[in-house]
Amino acid sequence: MTTTAPGASTVIGLCCRECARPYPPEALHVCEYCFGPLEVAYDYEAIAAATSREKISAGPTTIWRYADLLPADASDPVNLGAGFTPLVRAHRLAAELGLGELWVKNDTLNPTGSFKDRVVSVALTKARELGFKVGACASTGNLANSVGAHAAHAGMESIVFIPHDLEEAKVVTTAVYGGKLVAVEGNYDDVNRLCAELASEHPTWAFVNVNVRPYYSEGSKTLAFEVAEQLGWRVPDHVVVPIASGSQLTKVHKGFDELYKVGLLDEEPHVRVSGAQAAGCSPVATAFAEGTDHVRPQKPCTIAKSLAIGNPADGWYALDSVRSTGGAVGSVTDDEIVEGIRLLARTEGIFAETAGGVTIATLAKLAAEGVVRPDERVVAYVTGHGLKTIDAVSRQCGPTATIAPTMEAFNQAIEVQT
Ligand SMILES: *Cc1c(COP(=O)(O)O)cnc(C)c1O
Ligand SMILES: [Zn+2]
Repeated sequence: MTTTAPGASTVIGLCCRECARPYPPEALHVCEYCFGPLEVAYDYEAIAAATSREKISAGPTTIWRYADLLPADASDPVNLGAGFTPLVRAHRLAAELGLGELWVKNDTLNPTGSFKDRVVSVALTKARELGFKVGACASTGNLANSVGAHAAHAGMESIVFIPHDLEEAKVVTTAVYGGKLVAVEGNYDDVNRLCAELASEHPTWAFVNVNVRPYYSEGSKTLAFEVAEQLGWRVPDHVVVPIASGSQLTKVHKGFDELYKVGLLDEEPHVRVSGAQAAGCSPVATAFAEGTDHVRPQKPCTIAKSLAIGNPADGWYALDSVRSTGGAVGSVTDDEIVEGIRLLARTEGIFAETAGGVTIATLAKLAAEGVVRPDERVVAYVTGHGLKTIDAVSRQCGPTATIAPTMEAFNQAIEVQT
């Protein structure tokens, strides 16, 4: 039962993460027998034979340079240029936090300003390959932007569902692409439930994070691939990753292991994976702190709206990644998130959205607690651009002074050292 898609010849099919039952590589996402989530299964020997560091470095400067490890036909991808974002050595932030070798993966610089472009590029490429003409999603904001943009580029229709109380910037920057945008009176978990129902009513819609989720989620592995390549085919000792559904964190973990499996790393990686959440929506951090396996749903209340998933689909798997690698999950208050945004901007010149504030503030907390150590090579994943969540910092950030256009007024208002 393995019909192989053109181009993606290294994909064996789908496989249940719980009971390992095989499925064909189609728009399927749950196991009929145990209701476990499905995941893409690869022929790693075939990938090892096909791929090499040289081949990758000669590839496009997008996620598609890792096509051998992605589950869609890379000969004609839905591609706006997602990926291969800068890995910035953060000397000044490291000094503030008492850390040593610290890097920031600046994923604010994707085509629509967030890491979601990675997963959407993969999901819609696969969806188009499977014959879908409509791209859909349930979104906390960034996914909406990305599905709108990629569908427009591919000439597909889009229908995007968001909670009604999103930041204005995220609404406008989705609607501008011309697809259908539906604001739902409820939180993300309400939106997601509605979309699960709609997905079964409309089997001709590719819901990127529902019926094509197994392909979508694989796009996040490129966050690990790029970091390893950018570090000269070495891995970090410790990464800090924000958690919404938990998919990104799980796949970053998987990405490092896959590189070793296919022979792209010299040594077996031992990357500690830590997670970051907002205190106002911290189901995974709470389960971690309580030492349980049970991720209890929460009602989100935080300025980090892009991470506001109270019932995370991959929460358990994210916990498992963190625990099995010796990481931790931290959570931070809204004030700490704002401070995290400003700290990153002031020390490194990178302006992140609230999710980036969550990552940096959590990194600061884990560093203060000694969980993230000064002897470790650390990478913090900053996943969305600050221009989308201006409101979070607009009260603290304005002109130093407003003056009449005269020298006198300037000299009175501003003290200059040199
Ligand atoms: C969606 C999102 C995440 C996390 O995504 P999950 O894979 O659902 O955990 C992180 N950062 C930003 C900016 C996002 O939009
Ligand atoms: Zn199963």
